[in-house]
Amino acid sequence: LLLAYDPAKRLARLHVNLNNGLVGVKLMYDLIDDVPALRDAPGAVDLIVSRGEVRYTDVHFAYGERPALHGLTLTAQAGKMTALVGSSGAGKSTLFSLVERFYDPQSGTIEIDGQDISKVTVASLRRNIAMVTQDTILFDMTIRENIALGRPEASEEEILQASRDANAHEFIIAQPGGYDAMTGEGGGRLSGGQRQRIAIARAMLRNAPILLLDEATSALDAESEAKVQSALTRLMQGRTTLVIAHRLATVRDAGEIHVMDRGRLAESGTHASLYAADGIYRRLCDLQFREPDQAKV
Ligand code: ADP
Ligand code: MG
Repeated sequence: LLLAYDPAKRLARLHVNLNNGLVGVKLMYDLIDDVPALRDAPGAVDLIVSRGEVRYTDVHFAYGERPALHGLTLTAQAGKMTALVGSSGAGKSTLFSLVERFYDPQSGTIEIDGQDISKVTVASLRRNIAMVTQDTILFDMTIRENIALGRPEASEEEILQASRDANAHEFIIAQPGGYDAMTGEGGGRLSGGQRQRIAIARAMLRNAPILLLDEATSALDAESEAKVQSALTRLMQGRTTLVIAHRLATVRDAGEIHVMDRGRLAESGTHASLYAADGIYRRLCDLQFREPDQAKV
């Protein structure tokens, strides 16, 4: 039953409904930022991000009867990359949904620079967060409009710059119609790597201090992978990044790695310290990070 409230599914439905009419990019953007419609607390003030530290304290959360987080406490340091790892169902994506306030925890707090996110306006919260996931939603509209969802008031030059920074400009201008090319339903006319770079361009344009990144699990071709990676590295510069990591290179670069296990924080540390500790992380590492250089860890 609760699946009916899944944000991505709601967006998919909106997409179907909205495609029948002429809907401005601004409206579409408002819908993204309002999904699901969550009311501001009385007296809510705008979030002011100075450093960009994200702190979860004793967070308990269940989807209806289904528990997902059992008293989770962790901090993502300002301006650094923090990696989340853990087997499927451990609660990693739930952490993202909670900081975006797609849902509120049953107890515990999430703070950004010391401000409880349940007490700030949802609009100001979401303005300060960009999310790039494997299944970023592309609407069946032009490439330019899809990128502009990151910041509808952006100028043409800003859109072009974001696209260049995302390693997307070249393939976009090679499309018939260029920036005016339609992406097809769900971005179906583009390859996986191209869709990801559109999503990165959107996030570049948003220029938010906090970045939520869910790395792709499925392999892209080598060239596309390299372009996505260099674009992501550029995007992460100077931002607090929480990344659900599926690549060995990412966990190696992370300032801190948090290992989640069945809704709890099991271990934290650097790649080297966790690997040496020979616990959950090491087992995950050996199973999950199948890269050619894996043998060298
Ligand atoms: P991970 O990202 O680590 O794979 P999730 O945060 O997606 O884990 O899921 C944590 C738990 O919550 C799992 O048991 C999952 O089945 C459940 N869950 C996730 N999303 C929903 C949802 N929309 N409705 C009900 N249960 C959910
Ligand atoms: Mg997940």
